[in-house]
Amino acid sequence: MDHFLYRDGTLYAEDVRISDIAAQVGTPFYCYSSATLTRHFRLFDEALDGTDHLVCYAMKANSNQAILRLLAEQGAGMDVVSGGEYARAKAAGVPGDRIVFSGVGKTADEMRMALEGGIRQFNVESEPEMVVLNEVALSLGVTAPITVRVNPDVDAKTHAKIATGKSENKFGIPISRAREVYAMAASLAGLDVVGIDVHIGSQLTDLEPYRMAYEKVAELTKTLREDGHNIRRLDLGGGLGIPYERSNEAPPLPIEYGQMVKETLGDLGCELEIEPGRLIAGNAGILVSKVIYVKEGEDRKFLIIDSAMNDLIRPAMYEAHHDIVPVTEDVPGEEGEKYDIVGPVCESGDTFAKGRTLKSLAPDDLVAFRSAGAYGAVMASEYNTRPMIPEVLVQGDQFAVIRQRPTYEEMIERDIIPAWL
Ligand SMILES: *Cc1c(COP(=O)(O)O)cnc(C)c1O
Repeated sequence: MDHFLYRDGTLYAEDVRISDIAAQVGTPFYCYSSATLTRHFRLFDEALDGTDHLVCYAMKANSNQAILRLLAEQGAGMDVVSGGEYARAKAAGVPGDRIVFSGVGKTADEMRMALEGGIRQFNVESEPEMVVLNEVALSLGVTAPITVRVNPDVDAKTHAKIATGKSENKFGIPISRAREVYAMAASLAGLDVVGIDVHIGSQLTDLEPYRMAYEKVAELTKTLREDGHNIRRLDLGGGLGIPYERSNEAPPLPIEYGQMVKETLGDLGCELEIEPGRLIAGNAGILVSKVIYVKEGEDRKFLIIDSAMNDLIRPAMYEAHHDIVPVTEDVPGEEGEKYDIVGPVCESGDTFAKGRTLKSLAPDDLVAFRSAGAYGAVMASEYNTRPMIPEVLVQGDQFAVIRQRPTYEEMIERDIIPAWL
């Protein structure tokens, strides 16, 4: 459930009319619901009730400062994948001991930054990374807490671009080599091995791949303990999917996921971490856009709207489906029209949906893309010199712009013309 519902025929975010925000902020814009963000965080937190755990929001899904602050106030930790994200988490007030650092390509500078600023753990993904982290830690006179990300070689049954747990993927070390890699880690004085990390992919709609992966992690925990490692923390990654299409079968709920986690790993006496991103932010956001033209093609109608692939790249990049709804509600029984919904960018890939039935729309009508809160704004670009669109956060009957639309001047000023021109 989210907090984007119709009242008296018009779409609201919590207690604010979307059309009121549009009138004040202009279109297109992203709009997030505080109540939905909070609710989703709590669902995960409660799903692990009775265990020693920390929910580390995977902030690459949506890293706006206001959202980080909101979740941190609820008690969330953060999963970061770059120095920039680390800096963002700190700037939002997240203490270092609630930040975990993931990613296959951490640089020495990023490691130094996190060791100096405070870090819960690094999720190390390779031996060369381990060597560099050891050197950085020793040079600072500290030890770096680490887990090793293991690749359990399970098929997450998700889109190829976001599957990460097969042996062919670049992530982690093969679980079959875990013992020798942990032995190496233990031999490095700058590292403190605290646990095991696994993350098999994103938008998972089935618990079975998780169960398979976590059973392997349970077994590995025992083996590594027998080898003398003090395995006391398990980072289980994120990836639980959301229902992008309301009409389709619903993915598992956090409570069901939590139950499975307790079944597979609950009796090991380990502290548990999970890193959900999409499920916290995805359905907590919509993208609001305005119809510019309705264009008659030879055998179809195009709805040309003022947002484009640079604002929301998921359909172009992952063939992703987003439900698209009119901000003024359909009248039941009224016959709709079939539209190809497209943006103004000069690529045929700038198509959000084909043959979608909506009520009959005209220029200046507003539409909303549902489930746009995760991997939306953070993946936006200024392609076609289209300004990054504003983000708005609603709480109850109030709303605030949490990122402003830049002016053309601000965009142009970032370029520097060399003196010789
Ligand atoms: C992307 C990512 C996540 C979050 O995935 P979601 O599908 O957004 O829940 C968690 N952990 C790691 C290591 C990731 O790369």
